[in-house]
Amino acid sequence: MSRLIFSLCLLMSLAAIAASQQYDLVIEGGRVIDPETGLDAVRNVGVRDGKIVRISSEALSGQRVVHALGLVVAPGFIDLHQHGQDLESQRVKALDGVTTALELEIGAPDVAQFLKSKEGHSLIHYGTSASHVAARAAVFGAPLPPEIIGPHAGIPEILPKSGPATDQPATPQQIEGMRERLRAELDAGGLAVGMGIQYTPGATRLEVIDMFRLAAERGLPVYTHARSTGRVEPGSAIEAVSEVIGAAAITGAALHIVHINSTCLRDSLECLAMVEGARARGLDVTTEAYPYIAGMTAVNSALFNPGWREKLGIDYGDLVLPDTGEHLTKQRFDELHNSSTTRWVLIFANTQEVVDKVIPHPLVMIASDGAAGHPRNAGTYSRVLAQYVREKGTVTLLDGIRKMTLMPAQMLERSTPAARQKGRLQEGADADIVVFDAGTISDRATFQKPMEPSVGVRYLVVGGRLVVNEGKIVPDVFPGRAILGPRKVDPGKGR
Ligand SMILES: [Zn+2]
Repeated sequence: MSRLIFSLCLLMSLAAIAASQQYDLVIEGGRVIDPETGLDAVRNVGVRDGKIVRISSEALSGQRVVHALGLVVAPGFIDLHQHGQDLESQRVKALDGVTTALELEIGAPDVAQFLKSKEGHSLIHYGTSASHVAARAAVFGAPLPPEIIGPHAGIPEILPKSGPATDQPATPQQIEGMRERLRAELDAGGLAVGMGIQYTPGATRLEVIDMFRLAAERGLPVYTHARSTGRVEPGSAIEAVSEVIGAAAITGAALHIVHINSTCLRDSLECLAMVEGARARGLDVTTEAYPYIAGMTAVNSALFNPGWREKLGIDYGDLVLPDTGEHLTKQRFDELHNSSTTRWVLIFANTQEVVDKVIPHPLVMIASDGAAGHPRNAGTYSRVLAQYVREKGTVTLLDGIRKMTLMPAQMLERSTPAARQKGRLQEGADADIVVFDAGTISDRATFQKPMEPSVGVRYLVVGGRLVVNEGKIVPDVFPGRAILGPRKVDPGKGR
């Protein structure tokens, strides 16, 4: 009898040991927040095979245990708008809590090449839209370089120099050429059609509608930087937002208007009311913002075609070279604008007052528009959590997390059902998790030191793997995977 009891005890303890090792990773005792279910409680999280498999108040143990007492455990942040796809940018994104960073505004010039270059070399998840700007450049015989990462790390060449390919209207044959090219780019895995209309002012209203039609034909959204900025009519931001909402209404394509703060400037709340109105009429329109008063773009792009000072309400001296801090003069501007070498320039055109009203708006999700040279690359997410959630108290922690996780994941669901497993901290979701100290999380990047990493992210899990451990990047792990649109599957490749 006692031997039987002993055997039973032995069996039970063996079972307990087996159970204790059923998780690859356990995040223990943190304040677990899920924006979809509203869960906000101390829980233990068990991760196995890249998935969140258990969320429990019971003790869990696994091969690796991370102690999260006093820390927030949330879904990893999803950045729909990230241009810098180099490893340096990915490192600062990871330290800012980002587990997925997608180039959707403009799109990589060559989707297949982009995906190939990132495979096995990515710290965080990646993906891209199909670029209308690049398709237009190609049919005008001035193709963009295919790589957006590589030799000019951090300076993606996604925007053409101002010239015929950006400024002239296209012929019907050229528009057909763009459509063909965009179809091929979507077949290669593009998540959406990306349009930087302000960078292709030669595109007629009809060309824009034709590109929306193409997205609608595939059931995919259009991400767009609208045609213009400021209050001067014709060509105001209000007109530009009307144009793309109209194109969405005409074609049925979902529309995501990028950085409404920097497109609409002082009229940002009016633009948000337009988005709200369109949604109330049943249109699928969403938007995003970043928490900085300056923008950044290529100084030789068509955004700086004549008239930009009047549109933006700024002067040459409001343009600043990020690497040197040099404020431009007319002479220096002309030299750089006419150069075929792409240089980024910071544009100080917005006010803190506008940004402070835009970030808390319930329709605004957070997206960085990041690339090396601007502090938004490294600091966007921590800055919102520090300034708006902790200091100003204008955004609750749950809403802040929702703007960084669930809202972008739901936008991404228009492109791929895989996004249903992202942006949530739930059993069955992908194990993309950020663990941060809500009391200390802060951005450190400034216009003088734009690549200074944020502080306060203690752990970051991407696809079940730790990429940030105790506030430091884990060397030599690349768990980032491609997020792909509904491309035509090549049976020979079996990805
Ligand atoms: Zn933009």
